[in-house]
Amino acid sequence: MDEGYLPLDASYATRAIHECQDPEKWSSRAVVPPITMSANFQLDTSGDIEKGYFYSRFGNPTRDVLEKCLASLDDAKYGLCYSSGLCAVAAVVNLLRAGEHVVCASDVYGGTYYNLAELATERGVEVSFYDISKEKGLADSIRPNTKLVLIESPSNPLGRLVDIRAASAECKKHPGVILAIDNTFQTSYFQKTLAMGVDVVMYSLTKYMNGHSDVIMGAVVTSNDEIYKRLHKQQIYLGIMPSPFDCFLVSRGIKTLAVRLKQHMRNGIHVAKYLQKHPKRNKPVEPCLSDHPQHELLKTQSSGICGIFAFYIKNAGLEEVKKFIASTKVFVNAGSVGAVESLITSPAIVSHFAVPREERLAIGITDNLIRLSVGIEDAEELCKDLDQALWAALNESVNTKVTTD
Ligand SMILES: *Cc1c(COP(=O)(O)O)cnc(C)c1O
Repeated sequence: MDEGYLPLDASYATRAIHECQDPEKWSSRAVVPPITMSANFQLDTSGDIEKGYFYSRFGNPTRDVLEKCLASLDDAKYGLCYSSGLCAVAAVVNLLRAGEHVVCASDVYGGTYYNLAELATERGVEVSFYDISKEKGLADSIRPNTKLVLIESPSNPLGRLVDIRAASAECKKHPGVILAIDNTFQTSYFQKTLAMGVDVVMYSLTKYMNGHSDVIMGAVVTSNDEIYKRLHKQQIYLGIMPSPFDCFLVSRGIKTLAVRLKQHMRNGIHVAKYLQKHPKRNKPVEPCLSDHPQHELLKTQSSGICGIFAFYIKNAGLEEVKKFIASTKVFVNAGSVGAVESLITSPAIVSHFAVPREERLAIGITDNLIRLSVGIEDAEELCKDLDQALWAALNESVNTKVTTD
């Protein structure tokens, strides 16, 4: 460059890029699969891009490990990972063309509702929602142009169940209708949905699957060749995949899923039973307890129950609910679920704030509803935490006006 300096090291830049980095040398026998951040892969001498890896949008070794593992955990042929759980749902909805119809269960995840009611509708897909508490709700909603049925069980936040086998039997009466389930809550550990006749399983891996509140990711699992082909093409040409580093984290999280979920279940039941006897708790909505109206159905389609449930506080309005949540010391006030940490939220204020008040009340999301995602801390400490917060919130409000019962 400028004259007068010592000469530059001519091969420095080349060595910085290539030294000891021959693409053919990676076979270290590492027990944990390496995080392959590489965007490009060296083609073999034939230059055939179909042989091995080519470009990470098409396929990446770290993502492959996770996708194959997810497929195996559902006894499925194919797994596909996406940059978020909602992206996985959107990919499935995106299989529909304008003029085709999707039927979706009531009280699904808010983002799913928005994707259907706004985005899918905008591009000409017909969307309808059916009430899962109505015996013939699904049967009555299927039309000649129905191509997709979306369900979620248990529902969020009210823990209402869909009879998965019955939904599948209904869909099978209509050839060409795909049944897809969002199995984020129960995961493939507690609920094997493909075995019950579901065609496509969607996950937010952000929740229990990863479990540590440090990755946003989603997945779709299926054994249907045709559906896989279409989803795979979309994954590549919409470019909706997660990073290899995030795949590594989720692969790591899944290694402890079985242990974590057993503990989430134990803790969830412990806390639910404690609340059941609490003088400030009202009306059961916990599917994990035997007094839940669908507890028997749960046992016929699941091997366990995750730690998410809701309960109503007796004689409380929004003010008391806010005070209650602010008074918890172990439970974290956060809108998500399925983490090792116990999380607490008010659906009325957080997840369903956009739903008009009357509509929200009609489906049971009243101001005094609380959703818990029970973590894997010490269960007794969790009960004590809720107890002190309930009294702290309600003692001062004896004379204040309440809006719900
Ligand atoms: C969180 C969640 C989603 C969305 O997942 P993201 O990873 O946040 O995009 C979808 N469905 C259910 C049931 C969820 O809980």
